[in-house]
Amino acid sequence: MPLTPEQRAEIEDARAETRQTLRATSDGMEAHLYRAHEVLDHGLVRVIDYMGDDSAIVQAARVSYGRGTKAVQNDEGLIRYLMRHWHSTPFEMCEIKLHVKLPVFVARQWIRHRTANVNEYSARYSILDREFYIPAPEHLAAQSVQNNQGRGETLEGDEAARVLDWLREDAGRAYDHYEAMLSKEGQQGLARELARMNLPANVYTQWYWKVDLHNLFHFLRLRADPHAQYEIRVYAEAICKIVADWVPAAYRAFEDYRLGGASLSAKALDCVRRMGRGEEVTQETSGMSKGEWREFMAVMDG
Ligand SMILES: Cc1cc2nc3c(=O)[nH]c(=O)nc-3n(C[C@H](O)[C@H](O)[C@H](O)COP(=O)(O)OP(=O)(O)OC[C@H]3O[C@@H](n4cnc5c(N)ncnc54)[C@H](O)[C@@H]3O)c2cc1C
Repeated sequence: MPLTPEQRAEIEDARAETRQTLRATSDGMEAHLYRAHEVLDHGLVRVIDYMGDDSAIVQAARVSYGRGTKAVQNDEGLIRYLMRHWHSTPFEMCEIKLHVKLPVFVARQWIRHRTANVNEYSARYSILDREFYIPAPEHLAAQSVQNNQGRGETLEGDEAARVLDWLREDAGRAYDHYEAMLSKEGQQGLARELARMNLPANVYTQWYWKVDLHNLFHFLRLRADPHAQYEIRVYAEAICKIVADWVPAAYRAFEDYRLGGASLSAKALDCVRRMGRGEEVTQETSGMSKGEWREFMAVMDG
């Protein structure tokens, strides 16, 4: 459970205080504001603030004086056009600020997305909580034999139990020593900035993460993808649900053209055209490598 009763009360207090505004708001997003969506065993995602809605995208695209909306259908058509033609800057007019609690090894993948603003909880200043990500048994998998960067069959029986025991024991022992190093009882106590190096990569950290919608879509395209590691994918999927409520038209366009779409090389496109004319195309006659052909077939077979 990632929230203490005090944290829950703070969130409820924040939600009880309302303000009047002339700014564009999104009803779907107002319902999410401040609320925590639980992810993994101790993680969370919650919206702290946002700017803009679907109409802000069309407003920017039309460089309008007013709110810039026409008929809802026209607006959605324009948003789809912008998405289809990679006209990305209107999507940058919307922003979102999230509070994310996540294991450090997930944070290392996340932070590679440089087009965002981040402020992380300081483990030089504060003491980290005794919270570690321990995978649910169904997510404890063996190394994939097909993909060096992935997992395969689920571990079972004694092996699964042993791995879970080690994960729990090692994290617990590392945290006990972290506390012992920090302790001022009968000793000076090691600095927090040094003691933290004893903690494993499954310890939880937290940050505020602010990003515009264009770069958020880029992040979601990569991290909500089935090839992304499960532990970051579940965060991306939680954010996808929030974005679908915040900017429904933009999210539908993203789902259609990016998340559910595929980009084809010139060779792949040529194969599609030849197949459409009834020609039987094989990997040997496609001009593609074995790997390219396998990925192309995966796209064609759905
Ligand atoms: C499945 C998967 C596997 C991965 N495996 C590895 C791995 O093994 N090792 C590893 O190191 N990383 C790995 N990554 C991370 C990956 O290489 C990217 O660093 C990460 O996805 C962030 O993408 P990005 O740079 O496009 O995003 P952002 O940093 O958000 O940048 C968005 C876009 O802005 C532009 N941009 C931003 N900063 C610069 C810059 N300084 N110079 C030029 N253009 C810039 C680029 O066009 C970029 O695409 C992996 C990612 C995925 C999704």
